[in-house]
Amino acid sequence: MAVYNTSSDSANTAIRAFLTKVGEYYWGKSFNTASGSSKKIFEHIKNEVFQGRCAYCGKQANKLQIEHLIMFNRSQYGLHHPGNIVPSCPPCNKRRKNSAKEYLDWEDHLEQVCRENGDLDSFFERKKKIKSHMHQGKYKYPDLNEAEQHAIRVIANSLYDNIKMENDKALKMYQELDSAFVKR
Ligand SMILES: [Zn+2]
Repeated sequence: MAVYNTSSDSANTAIRAFLTKVGEYYWGKSFNTASGSSKKIFEHIKNEVFQGRCAYCGKQANKLQIEHLIMFNRSQYGLHHPGNIVPSCPPCNKRRKNSAKEYLDWEDHLEQVCRENGDLDSFFERKKKIKSHMHQGKYKYPDLNEAEQHAIRVIANSLYDNIKMENDKALKMYQELDSAFVKR
């Protein structure tokens, strides 16, 4: 729970809810990783597919977190779908940025992590493993074409603007009602 809640927070939450719904539409069922069979799917990806290791640095860690390869937000519009999920240790779960302060895509992030750890030799092997999980395994991520990716971006951005605007309008409405009725 955020300590200070802004209109942008609610708009970003709405985008994640939309990306969850689209992910579940392709997955064919609900994917609530907090409990039940969906939680077991993450456990399987973590322990069997990635052998209890961080997908980026390869280290074993007790607290491996859910990481969305294509970021699950307005910078990359990744879906909440098993094929977009890998285990990550907390330091690697902080997406690196380029010199223009934009978030890197997962392949560049992986390369950066390997470089930081002096472990560039492992880059291609880890990339291959992630790609195989994402595109070939039982959790295959949907193969979205350009038009579908564009549609997701347009709808997500429209949702963001609408929710933010509604939230900003709410105070104005309160002020008008307050002066019209409450303080009469
Ligand atoms: Zn790591």
